[in-house]
Amino acid sequence: MQDLNQTRTQRREKLTEKTYDLLVIGGGITGSGIALDAVTRGLSVALIEKQDFAAGTSSRSTKLIHGGLRYLKQWEFKLVREVGSERAIVHRLAPHLVVPEKMLLPIIENGSYSKSLTSLGLTVYDLLAGVKKADRRKMLSKTQTLGKEPLLNDALVKGGGLYAEYRTDDARLTISLVKTAAKHGAQALNYVEAREFLYTKTSDTPKICGAVCHDSLSDLTFEIRAHQVVNAAGPWVDELREINRSLEGKHLHLTKGVHIVVPHHKFPVQQSVYFDVPGKRMLFAIPRGKITYIGTTDTDYHGDKAHPRTRQEDVEYLIRGIDYLFPEVQLKREDVISSWAGIRPLIHETGKSASEISRKDEIFVSSTGLISIAGGKLTGYRKMAQRVVDKVLDRHPAGAGPCRTHKITLLGGDFDGYPAVKDFTEGLTRDWQAQGLSPEWAKYLVANYGTQAREVLTYLTPQNSRSLDAALELAELRFCLENEWVQKPMDFFNRRTGQLYFDIERVRAFAAEVLAVFEKAWGWDPTTLAEERRQVEEAVYHASHFAPAERETEHVHTLEKVG
Ligand code: FAD
Repeated sequence: MQDLNQTRTQRREKLTEKTYDLLVIGGGITGSGIALDAVTRGLSVALIEKQDFAAGTSSRSTKLIHGGLRYLKQWEFKLVREVGSERAIVHRLAPHLVVPEKMLLPIIENGSYSKSLTSLGLTVYDLLAGVKKADRRKMLSKTQTLGKEPLLNDALVKGGGLYAEYRTDDARLTISLVKTAAKHGAQALNYVEAREFLYTKTSDTPKICGAVCHDSLSDLTFEIRAHQVVNAAGPWVDELREINRSLEGKHLHLTKGVHIVVPHHKFPVQQSVYFDVPGKRMLFAIPRGKITYIGTTDTDYHGDKAHPRTRQEDVEYLIRGIDYLFPEVQLKREDVISSWAGIRPLIHETGKSASEISRKDEIFVSSTGLISIAGGKLTGYRKMAQRVVDKVLDRHPAGAGPCRTHKITLLGGDFDGYPAVKDFTEGLTRDWQAQGLSPEWAKYLVANYGTQAREVLTYLTPQNSRSLDAALELAELRFCLENEWVQKPMDFFNRRTGQLYFDIERVRAFAAEVLAVFEKAWGWDPTTLAEERRQVEEAVYHASHFAPAERETEHVHTLEKVG
């Protein structure tokens, strides 16, 4: 195994070796997309993230690459056209990770959309997004709608619409962008925070030329120098603007969105559904393997940005929504096995409620040259990156080319279309059948790592651990340690594998073995090991318990033991 400490030290040293063309602060989807766009246009790029990559909002979304049907109701045609047409492009760049998914929109008595509005809305949606003829919306009768989803409330449903969307794994998409940017030469490092800015002192107006950074793992402080600095800090964008003394005019408006996870057998939806709930809002119910997840809420947020919590009232709101349209399901709070809460970094609009605020992105350039990007969506990351890098190039000496990211396949995404993903998965299952690889495991590995799934399997050591399941867990871990900047157990359990949300029992089952690998690989002392174990316990606790109302930053005393 690589010397991980040495690799990390080298990466940190590389950040200080030269003056970069561009320093990107924030390793969510926005910052990672910007890093990839810039490096593939020929700029030298440093990307830093103060937590783990995707640990902010970009691992806490509904995980849809979608056009945002509801924005049509807010007359946001330009936004719908842009993100709608981006879906097919992002699918082409990572067909294993951005997967076509039909969405069912039931039409109900007094719902958000009447039959004629649904038909018109979905047609406009398809046209704006340039959806291929075969994939365009289909209107369904009441019987057809109930046939597709028998759990729906017979008394309320009048018909339905079926339309094309894509689902993804937001954290995996972000990590893939970081990996691809690094492959093209970007220097990326997590657990490095920008704390102050550096300014040139040669003219009357100081110009930004880098940042003073702190590596929380080694407790070292150092400078990264760059001709341009982009602030892609998501919910923290205004904090950096404040440090830059440029927080004036428009500012962020944070809203919290919660998803809950239940075993699929407790809410056995046959496909993804986008459905009305009382109060003129809509929720998604999305089946994913052994679970179904449901979301989301949308409430103003003023709490801890790094640790938003699911509160009991959030869970109750989502369950009430399910009761309304799926009354037979009778979901209870005890059925919720996991949950997550994310923060939308929206741009404040006076007089508008959380749900009404536009999801459009905007770029602010300060007098010292800090380029900040706020708002936007996961789906539109590539176009947002293009606009930011265009802005960078307005101010940068010539030499860089036009945006190329529409042609740059993400690492592991080198498939000739979606059918090729299925063929590859079948091939993988066949080749590893003798070692006991099940089709489900092959599907999971390909969805996460694409063609790199074969490389993950090369980390499978002779089975000295107790089962193939355990051996696969550790093979995946070793691959991630060496190839995906995994520093802490929760990087692995949460943002590389999604186990914390989608298979929380697996975290409980393998925590001890995973911690032991970390201890050895990073040479942890007993204090570090104990602290990391506590962090796993806390994450499991927070995912599966809900804070009482109005206590976003509740301190937890009793954690369940893992490992
Ligand atoms: P983040 O992901 O938060 O990244 C910013 C990063 O900057 C963070 O990781 C943070 O740690 C880092 N950072 C902050 N300060 C510093 C510093 N000083 N130094 C270094 N690093 C720093 N969009 C869709 O397209 N589809 C969906 O289905 C969807 N569903 C959503 C559901 C919910 C509940 C929410 C909340 C959002 C949803 N979105 C969706 C929107 C989408 O998730 C966000 O727009 C997107 O993830 C924002 O990404 P970001 O990179 O701008 O921010």
